[in-house]
Amino acid sequence: MTTESRKDVVGLKISHRKIIAAAAVAVVTALCIMMFMLCRCRTYATVQFHMDTFISYYVESSFPEKAVDAMDREVRRCEQLFDRFSPESEITLINANAGNYTEVSEETYRLIAEAVKLAEENGGYFDPTLGAVSDLWGFGTDPRVPSEAEIGSAMEHVGYDRIGFMEKEGSFFVRAGEGQSIDLGGIAKGYALRLIGEAAAEAGCRSAVISFGGNVVLTGRGPDGRDVFSVGIRVPEENATSAAVVLNLGGGVVSTSGSYERFFVENGVRYCHIIDPFTGSCAAGDLVSVSVICDDPVEADCLSTALFVRGLDGTLDALASGEVTGVAIDGSGAVYISPDLTEAVDYDSVAQGYRLEVVG
Ligand code: AMP
Ligand code: MG
Repeated sequence: MTTESRKDVVGLKISHRKIIAAAAVAVVTALCIMMFMLCRCRTYATVQFHMDTFISYYVESSFPEKAVDAMDREVRRCEQLFDRFSPESEITLINANAGNYTEVSEETYRLIAEAVKLAEENGGYFDPTLGAVSDLWGFGTDPRVPSEAEIGSAMEHVGYDRIGFMEKEGSFFVRAGEGQSIDLGGIAKGYALRLIGEAAAEAGCRSAVISFGGNVVLTGRGPDGRDVFSVGIRVPEENATSAAVVLNLGGGVVSTSGSYERFFVENGVRYCHIIDPFTGSCAAGDLVSVSVICDDPVEADCLSTALFVRGLDGTLDALASGEVTGVAIDGSGAVYISPDLTEAVDYDSVAQGYRLEVVG
C-alpha cells in the first residue's frame, strides 16, 4: 500500500466515525426534544357553548389544545345525537315516529336503555319520557303554567316502561310509546362528560376539570400537581358565582340539580325545569339544590335530578343512609352533607348566610 492510499483509508475511517457520532447526537437531541415536549405540561382553559349551556375546560397536558379538541368533538357528537329540538337528532327521529320502531345507532340505543334502567332503579323519580309534559311548561321557549287538564292529558304519554327495544341482525331499533316524547335532558350532559373523561384520559391529561351545566368532572391529579381538586358547590341563586361550601375531592364527578336556573316566576310562585313524573308539576319544595358525588357522570346526573324530585326529606334519607354521597341545600340556607364527606369539607369555606349540617 502506498502512503497516499493509507491516508485515504484513515480519512475514510474518520469520516465514518464522524457520521456515526453526528447521527447519535441527532437521535439523542430528538429524544431530548420529545421528552421535553412530553414532560412540559401546559395549562389551557377555554369555554364553549353546547346543549344550551356553557362548558368550561381546564386541562394540564403536553398537548392541551389537542386534548380539548378531542373532548369538544365528543360533546358536539352527543349534541347531534340527543338534542330533541334538533330536526336531525336520533331522539327527534324516534319521537316523530312514536308508536313505531326507528332504527338508531347502537350508542343511542344503549343510552336510552341505560336511562330506562336508571329510571327503574330510582323508583321512577327520574323518567326519560317527560318530553310532552316539559313542552307544555315551555321551558326554553315560552314558559307558562299549563292547566290541570293539559297536564292530565300530557301525563298519559309518560312512562319509561313503554319504551321498546329491538336488536336485529346487528341493527338497533327503539320505539317510544304512542304520543311519547323521549327527553334525555336529565342525563345527556352526564353522558357527554363520560365521553369527555375518557377522551381526557386517552389524551394523557395530567389534570382536567370540565364543568358542564351543573356537572363537573375531575380527572387525573389535582391542578398544579396537588392531590386534590377543590370544588365549590354553588350558592343556589340565579347568576351567583360564589360557593356555598367547598369540597376537597380526589376525583370523580359532582352533579348538581337545582331550581335556581331555568325557572320562571308566575304570581309569586317559582316553577323550575325539573318535573315530578308522578304529577306532571314542576318539582318544588324546600330543596333548592342537590349535588351528587360519584365516579360515573351518567349516574351522578340522573341521581341529582331524581333526588331533586324526591325532595328534601327523601334526599336527606338517601344522604344519611349512605345510599348517596352528596350535598343538599334548602331554602333556609342549611347545607346538608352526607357523613362520608366530613373529611372532604373545607369548614372555613361555608358562605355567609349558610350553615353546615352533617346528616345521619
Ligand atoms: P338536570 O339539570 O340534570 O337536573 O336535568 C333537568 C332536565 O332533565 C330538564 O331540563 C328536562 O329536560 C329533564 N327532566 C326534567 N325532569 C325530569 C325527571 N323527573 N326525570 C328525567 N328528566 C327530567
Ligand atoms: Mg341531571
